[in-house]
Amino acid sequence: MTTFIAVLYIISFALFIYGLMGLTGPRTAVRGNWIAAVGMAIAVIATLLTPGMSNWLLIALGVAIGVVVGVPSARKVKMTAMPQMVALFNGVGGGAVALIAWVEFRTTEGYAHEPAYVAIASLFAAIVGSVSFWGSNIAFGKLQELISGRPITLGKLQQPVNALVLIAAIVLAVVIASGGDNELLMIGLLVAAGVLGVVVVLPIGGADMPVVISLLNALTGLSAAAMGLALDNTALIVAGMIVGASGSILTNLMAKAMNRSIPAIVAGGFGGGTAVASGGSGEVRPVRSTSASDTAIQMAYANKVVVVPGYGMAVAQAQHVVREMAKLLEAKGITVAYAIHPVAGRMPGHMNVLLAEADVPYEQLKEMDEINSEFAQTDVALVIGANDVTNPAAETDPGSPIYGMPILKVNHSRSVIVLKRGMSSGFAGIDNELFYDAKTSMLFGDAKSSVGEIVEELKAL
Ligand code: NDP
Repeated sequence: MTTFIAVLYIISFALFIYGLMGLTGPRTAVRGNWIAAVGMAIAVIATLLTPGMSNWLLIALGVAIGVVVGVPSARKVKMTAMPQMVALFNGVGGGAVALIAWVEFRTTEGYAHEPAYVAIASLFAAIVGSVSFWGSNIAFGKLQELISGRPITLGKLQQPVNALVLIAAIVLAVVIASGGDNELLMIGLLVAAGVLGVVVVLPIGGADMPVVISLLNALTGLSAAAMGLALDNTALIVAGMIVGASGSILTNLMAKAMNRSIPAIVAGGFGGGTAVASGGSGEVRPVRSTSASDTAIQMAYANKVVVVPGYGMAVAQAQHVVREMAKLLEAKGITVAYAIHPVAGRMPGHMNVLLAEADVPYEQLKEMDEINSEFAQTDVALVIGANDVTNPAAETDPGSPIYGMPILKVNHSRSVIVLKRGMSSGFAGIDNELFYDAKTSMLFGDAKSSVGEIVEELKAL
């Protein structure tokens, strides 16, 4: 039986890695996800086959609850709410690891009779799992706007409080590892680590949340791997390490895309700028507005049009009609490209997913570095529901909360047309100088309706 279980585990790892490879491109992503899910099902079956497994009713109940909660919420979730969903699911993973560490503590009556590596790995898993569970829940609350997305800090007490709870968790871990078997010690450790998760994530601004979620995801992976080491469960070690490694790579890539260092993010501050409307002084500055018909004419006479999609395109679900518009422009011999900012929308790859859904050819999607040098030869940059990712303040205003984030340099184009409903700010809550640029015209309205009107006008031309 042990060999059979080992073989099943090896098959499941192979499927995880093969599935992960599929996730590198939108065309193979769905299949990749399915392959990895099958791998996970095999790993679960293998674990259930482990000799000594009992309490089948309880296990069946757990599986049933997981299915009833997980499947409908994953099916119903809107693409724009995906980061919250990831935060919640990730938190549950960390919480499960922390609970397993607690259960192990109870079963073995402390770690005094266990080898040192089991005690250390279990206590590490308990701390990191609990940090990840509570931190992820705070991240969920911020993104779901259940709590303010702005930094919530303890002021000067912040660093001392962070240090205090971290030291408390470590001291309790040392006491347990050296033989302390009172359950209150373990509960105290989990509480201290939980408080640490809360006080570290609360001061981080909303715009940094995606990076934080990815970081917490990596931590959950590491805690699962540590627990796998303690339980001698290879499936948990491998799956945990895959999550830990891929989460760390993603965190790095996202931090780089926002020109932020991970320590600076964890120290808090970004995305907490005061929301300002029109210059921040209450004064209303004039903008030039345009119509769908003028936009259609301007594009019909262009050689090159670059579509700059953002969160608003996702909200409006305008991707299909945008594709229709692009086809009409291409039929007139106009070159169309799409400028993809790495943090446009509300999750990594958000724009790629939406545009792939509308069958936009992958070759037309241009990464930020590539397209930025092309804006100077662009006749019309059509900004559809994007705001922060085009904001020149990121380059020019050292006081801006997004200062330092690389942006799409749409203002280098010959003309810019911005489609949005009004003058509301973007995610970072700040005004955008681009809207007042002499080259910019605003086409106000819901992005799907506006692009729909442009399509009708293009057909009539
Ligand atoms: P923004 O959030 O900066 O701006 C979106 C704009 O879309 C708003 O100004 C809004 O203006 C407009 N809009 C909303 N609904 C509609 C609609 N139905 N039709 C037309 N316009 C609409 O989006 P960006 O994509 O430019 O930037 C993403 C921001 O989100 C960045 O700050 C990034 O850091 C952050 N973020 C990114 C994540 C990621 O992983 N990609 C995750 C979480 C946050 P109006 O209301 O006037 O229409």
